[in-house]
Amino acid sequence: MPELPEVETVRRTLATLVVGKTIADVSAPYPKIIKNLSFSHFRGTLINETITDIKRKGKFLIVVFTKCVLVSHLRMEGKYFYKTTPAIEKHEHVIFWFTDGSSLHYHDTRKFGTMYLFPTRDMTLITQLEPLSQVGLEPMDANMNVAYLKARFQKSTKAIKTTLLDQKIMAGLGNIYVDEVLFLSKIHPETPTKTLSDEQIALIITNAQTVLTKAIALGGTTIRSFTSAHDVSGRFQNELLVHTKTECPVCQAKIKKIKVGGRGTYVCENCQKPLT
Ligand SMILES: [Zn+2]
Repeated sequence: MPELPEVETVRRTLATLVVGKTIADVSAPYPKIIKNLSFSHFRGTLINETITDIKRKGKFLIVVFTKCVLVSHLRMEGKYFYKTTPAIEKHEHVIFWFTDGSSLHYHDTRKFGTMYLFPTRDMTLITQLEPLSQVGLEPMDANMNVAYLKARFQKSTKAIKTTLLDQKIMAGLGNIYVDEVLFLSKIHPETPTKTLSDEQIALIITNAQTVLTKAIALGGTTIRSFTSAHDVSGRFQNELLVHTKTECPVCQAKIKKIKVGGRGTYVCENCQKPLT
């Protein structure tokens, strides 16, 4: 599954390719990707619209048009391919045809991706509606602080790893990055969320900022089948400290692989002491 840094790489790549392009037509061999409008309404709203910007909130791509906004989530396997030839290939479910003859193809072997189209550019309104209303602040957000997380942590008996994967609480950390952030913060992934001190919450924020900023700069990771638009591969996997590792880079103890909330989790139980 693409994580926030990979989605940011897709955003940046797409912005260089399609900002300024005007939609001539839209086709959808599998229109169920579109969640809030009928395909005919979706197509009718987009024809003659020009892409003015591509933004991102959490793992959602936000394509801003002259009069409307498209919110797209890649989920497990979604990818965008920019093409200058008109052929439609297998697994391409929504295709945006531009007036200059090029096109943008949404490809998704699992069909889990989603698109929502809003006939407005009012981002205050759009972020109050599904699906963006379900996205918490990112670690890099100006409003992110200990008080924000503490308010959301204080009643939770769930493992901190599970809480940090919940995009409604804090957006942006997927499985790989949560392991890295908890390792850097010296917090065991199974620690009950509500028991964390203010100092530990502050460490989580700082380390989440560090990990995501670095991962974005390196284009994310290319651990599974993920490739961004134009096949940009991430290099962050070379920087991983604990995830997929066997020996702790700090104390040389053996890294343990455990399951937390059903997710494969890497931990150094010497550096990240379990609660006793
Ligand atoms: Zn260690």
